[in-house]
Amino acid sequence: MTKKNKAPSSRTPKILADSKFSPLSFEVVKSLKKAGYQAYLVGGCVRDLLVGIKAKDFDVSTNATPEQVRKIFRSSRIIGKRFRLVHVFSRNELIEVSTFRADASKTQNNDGLVKDTDGKILRDNVWGSLEEDCVRRDFSINALYFDPVENVLHDFHNGIEHIQKKSIVSIGDPMLRFDEDPVRSLRAIRFSSKLGFKISGDIKEAIYKKAPLLGNISNARLFDEFCKIFLSQKASDNFEKLQSFGALKYLINTKKYPVDSFGLRFQQAALVNTDNRLKSDQSVTPGFLLAALMWPKLIDETNEEGTLNLKKFFRSMDRIIREQQELTAIPRKFHGYIKDIWSLQLKLETRLGHQPYKILNHPRFRAAYDFLLLREEAAKDDQGIGSWWTEFQKVNRPRKIEMLQILRDSRKGPVEKKFGFLEELS
Ligand code: ATP
Ligand code: MG
Repeated sequence: MTKKNKAPSSRTPKILADSKFSPLSFEVVKSLKKAGYQAYLVGGCVRDLLVGIKAKDFDVSTNATPEQVRKIFRSSRIIGKRFRLVHVFSRNELIEVSTFRADASKTQNNDGLVKDTDGKILRDNVWGSLEEDCVRRDFSINALYFDPVENVLHDFHNGIEHIQKKSIVSIGDPMLRFDEDPVRSLRAIRFSSKLGFKISGDIKEAIYKKAPLLGNISNARLFDEFCKIFLSQKASDNFEKLQSFGALKYLINTKKYPVDSFGLRFQQAALVNTDNRLKSDQSVTPGFLLAALMWPKLIDETNEEGTLNLKKFFRSMDRIIREQQELTAIPRKFHGYIKDIWSLQLKLETRLGHQPYKILNHPRFRAAYDFLLLREEAAKDDQGIGSWWTEFQKVNRPRKIEMLQILRDSRKGPVEKKFGFLEELS
């Protein structure tokens, strides 16, 4: 393993030299270098700083093996099977430290690098040099290595030029690179939305061609990618791009809804809402978004000639969640959450007897109410149920009693089992 780096180094852009990298990432690079290893900040943190956006996390790449890294940092642990790396952490930061990988084409018949018959890499744990590691990165803009101690930048694949041209360029033939790891196609889409970059023609073609390979990726990995794609402030853009590349169906259990349908309008409303919440620092959860993205399907499949079949509605909830789980794992805590939001939609509409008081205290009330408002917006529904709940939350007890009385009077006679889903069912 080379300890001295002989690779050419580009002139370091001023923005990097001036940048304040996270304290822990700087410490990790410094300690590894002090111990005699090569170490660089790499990937998204270098790329994002050059683009002028705040880096989300900091990754370090080194020629020290995971065990050697582990020995240097007391607060660290080795993780991963398919791709072993070390997490170095402090109280409020976590740095991923990965060991340089060897060139895949030169490491056949080695236990550390295992591919399936389609060329997909199942295990990738053969160590190599900086130059080799670089070739293993997905896109040129992600293959920039920066040493913040000595202010040295390595750019072997013209990443800087591609950042200037706002272009996503594959390292090597994208058809082969997506065979090795189909998730790279989702990453290309995600980076193009995040950075406002265009995807090169050969990558576009490879996304169309190789999207079906996403069907063989573990649902746990696709859930991680789902969160990165949709909890990113670019959910709406990503949704459209994934749809146009034919890749959406590998992430979401939904039908393709026509442009002016309730289904698409509602999904878009939920995506835009998620983007806006993130932009204004409000909390978001993948559970809410999943509930929204699958709702049109639930309604479609339980609608019988314009009426909601309640029995079918409740029976279908588990099945629809199960189908989604075949695509992306859904952490257990979200199963109940999603079903609560769905079933509360019925109760929010009927508002029978004293139920509205109980509903207000339901732990999922707020989420279910937000969901109702989005449904109304998408259904262009003006029955005013959303605003009824807006008022009911705010007013004092006597007015609450009055509101319920008015509701009872307006119903005249026995309460009909009628739900206001008519717009959504048409
Ligand atoms: P972000 O953190 O904003 O999602 P990132 O580029 O840092 O973007 P990470 O998943 O954190 O993405 O990965 C760090 C780096 O590791 C990437 O920049 C890239 O160089 C490399 N990398 C990650 N995933 C892959 C992959 N599937 N194939 C090839 N290289 C990858
Ligand atoms: Mg990163």
